Amino acid sequence: MPALPVAFLRHSLRGKITLGYYAVAASILVASLFFVGELRTLEARVVLGQRATDLFNTVLEIRRFERNYFLHHQAADLEENSAYLKLAQALLTENRADFSAIATEARMDELRARLNDYQRQMSAFAAADRPPLELEPRVRALGQELVAIAEDLAGSERRQIQTTLASFRTLLLGVILTMALLIVVIGRALSLRVVRPLKEMEASVAAISADRRESLSAPSNDREILSIIAAFNHMLKELDLRQKSLMRSERLASLGTMLSGVAHELNNPLSNISTSCQILQEEAGEGDVATQKMYLAQIDQQTERARIIVRSLLDFSRERAFRKETVLLKPLVAQTVGFVRGEVSAKSVVRLSIPDDLSVPADAQRLQQVFVNLIRNAMEGLGPQGRIDISAQVVQASEPPAGTALGEGCGMKGPMVEILVADNGPGIAPEILPRIFDPFFTTKDVGHGMGLGLFVVYEIVDEHGGCIAVQSVPGQGAAFCIRLPRENPDDQPATNARDDKGAQ
Ligand code: ADP
Repeated sequence: MPALPVAFLRHSLRGKITLGYYAVAASILVASLFFVGELRTLEARVVLGQRATDLFNTVLEIRRFERNYFLHHQAADLEENSAYLKLAQALLTENRADFSAIATEARMDELRARLNDYQRQMSAFAAADRPPLELEPRVRALGQELVAIAEDLAGSERRQIQTTLASFRTLLLGVILTMALLIVVIGRALSLRVVRPLKEMEASVAAISADRRESLSAPSNDREILSIIAAFNHMLKELDLRQKSLMRSERLASLGTMLSGVAHELNNPLSNISTSCQILQEEAGEGDVATQKMYLAQIDQQTERARIIVRSLLDFSRERAFRKETVLLKPLVAQTVGFVRGEVSAKSVVRLSIPDDLSVPADAQRLQQVFVNLIRNAMEGLGPQGRIDISAQVVQASEPPAGTALGEGCGMKGPMVEILVADNGPGIAPEILPRIFDPFFTTKDVGHGMGLGLFVVYEIVDEHGGCIAVQSVPGQGAAFCIRLPRENPDDQPATNARDDKGAQ
């Protein structure tokens, strides 16, 4: 077979199925040819049987007219007898090959000799006016011998046909069984080569949707499977890119929220710097050096504070790969509250209850994004007496947190850092509670919410191997509980200490 069809048959599902069909078709063809051959043999046997029967019937006719002649001495009977005799001899001569397949050459010679003998004796009997008395019994005896030989030939041919039929039946059974076996074997081989890769792909797709794998690998070299895998992996890559771009736009939205808070945050150090500068200008060349140094130190301090605020915003906005570090929770939360405070109504209160030294292994930027989204959501519904409580502690997890819980870490047991963000806002209606983490789910008016905030929160918590749960009583507020795997004792101490200002 040329190289291309071989490659096509070996490396394509269509090729394998075609090969399977060809194999079945070829075996059916071989079996049919075999049976046609066997039928021809049987047909030939039937023809031989017919010859033997014709000979036997002719011999019987010879004997019938012989008997009639001996009884009535009619010339017509003698003629018929002699005609049938000639017919028998002609049968033997014309079908010599057929008869040699029925009996041995010696047996056929014996038959011919008997026929000639019979013919001679019968002619002698007919020619004599007074035939000798012993001639008639001799003719009869020869006739009987002829009948016996012809009967023997016909009988043996009948037996041959029966034997051929019996072996034909056995063969037919054998071929049917072999064909059935072949079809089962081919079917099994096809199922192994075609169904197994599909099953493996099914398992891989399940692993991908359970986040245990990132892409599909080829379970076979078949062209169709390879192109499905390539298309599927391309789709995964596209989905990943789109998700990243959604995250990016969500972060940009958060950045917008934070900007007003940052402006507010920057205002204090800037006005402090401005005041110190004015005093220094007024006292230029007059005041004592110690006081001037104090103002200069204040300017330096406030500049540093402003720098830290700007750096935090830059940190938040910069796009970078997921990187876990030991994050001190309290400063991070306090800073975030400061940033989003621009949206809180003057009478609302944000209370923090986080131990100073509580840290968690996390990507600081992403964790901040979680707090921005949760605090912003909480603030959006707050009335004039609004309150947001943010607390954190180490808990011994034994079961998932109460409420609608999502995330890889919901089944984790043992010590975990639990962060609660609770508000006394309008709460969440029970019928929408299971949907609030879905992408693009929002109850806000067009232009006010993209419905991505909680989806991003869930994604980040899940990325950290954590768990997020929500509980809410409509009219009494909502409480989000996040559990993150606890800090590894070997981790380095906090490196992200930022401006720890505390919240209002
Ligand atoms: P968005 O804020 O853009 O609507 P989110 O994914 O952040 O998208 O929130 C989805 C929905 O969940 C909100 O539209 C709101 O109905 C509800 N929600 C989230 N947090 C709170 C909360 N603290 N109080 C009341 N409802 C909330």
